[in-house]
Amino acid sequence: TPPLIELRNVTKRFGRGAEQVTAVDNISLRIEHGETVCLVGESGCGKSTTGRMMAGLLPVSSGQILFRGENINSLDTERYRAFRRAVQIIHQDPYASLNPTQTVRQMLVTPLLRHGKARDRSGAERRALELLEVVDLTPARDFLDKYPHQLSGGQRQRVSVARALTVEPTFIVADEAVSMVDVSIRVSLLNMLSRLKQEFDVTFLFITHDLALAKYFAWQGRIVVMYLGRIVEEGPTPRIITDPRHPYTQALLAAVPEADPELTHRKRQIQLRSAEIPSLLALPPGCTFHPRCPYAVPGECDVHVPELEPIPEGGSVACPIRKGEPIQLIEV
Ligand code: SF4
Ligand code: MG
Repeated sequence: TPPLIELRNVTKRFGRGAEQVTAVDNISLRIEHGETVCLVGESGCGKSTTGRMMAGLLPVSSGQILFRGENINSLDTERYRAFRRAVQIIHQDPYASLNPTQTVRQMLVTPLLRHGKARDRSGAERRALELLEVVDLTPARDFLDKYPHQLSGGQRQRVSVARALTVEPTFIVADEAVSMVDVSIRVSLLNMLSRLKQEFDVTFLFITHDLALAKYFAWQGRIVVMYLGRIVEEGPTPRIITDPRHPYTQALLAAVPEADPELTHRKRQIQLRSAEIPSLLALPPGCTFHPRCPYAVPGECDVHVPELEPIPEGGSVACPIRKGEPIQLIEV
């Protein structure tokens, strides 16, 4: 069977001429049904753009997106609508994505009725109450008549999740879904999302700049690391977190303040040549990481665009110079 969703050589450019930027540069990615994949990278690396293309909210500039093996651009109207229902996106800022003039009841009952997920209004209301319980808004009745401004940030994010669930999605893109929420309730939100994986058989693409969150949410899944529009490394989460192999991933992890007992006894040794992230308007040639990379080889790294190559420890790395060498660690 084909993967649930697949990107084939997808590129996304914005703007024209000298103002043109390549936000996503020829990336390929397959996500199987039931997998949990975390897309990680600093802001501006193209991860949100990738998520939005996967949800059908942005057209690709070139390449293909396949959903259950079918190019989403060649679906007929009815099947395209089914694809758009099957793939839901949860945004960073629920305040921006919830209609301030609608009550929670309207936000849930309307899509339930429109998409035939309930027979009548009272059926839709029963389902709305169930969904509120699923996202831990209890007692559910107390939330039906609330407007977004009457809810906390965490509660609003739970409402966005309940609303996404009204159409029974199979794939959810959660784009920095807990980043704006108070730290104290992040874990409960993440646990709620994890529960949906099981209970609703939803496959997740979790987008975050925060490796600690990636580790927590996708320990059983996979991390895909993006840098300036390209995938530089991917692999099973435990391998990426404990044994990153691309110099950029190594630098990302070295920058995480370690509160992690697994890793605190070691100090990662990687010194970037520059802290500055190049502008998307003037991307470096070859490996876009070369101006910052301590291992860069002149005449190689600034010329050739590295390809992802599989490594025996799991996943793949786009760096022909280091060839998946582990980072040097010093005991501290
Ligand atoms: Fe560094 Fe060269 Fe590898 Fe890029 S290809 S990460 S510049 S060593
Ligand atoms: Mg973003």
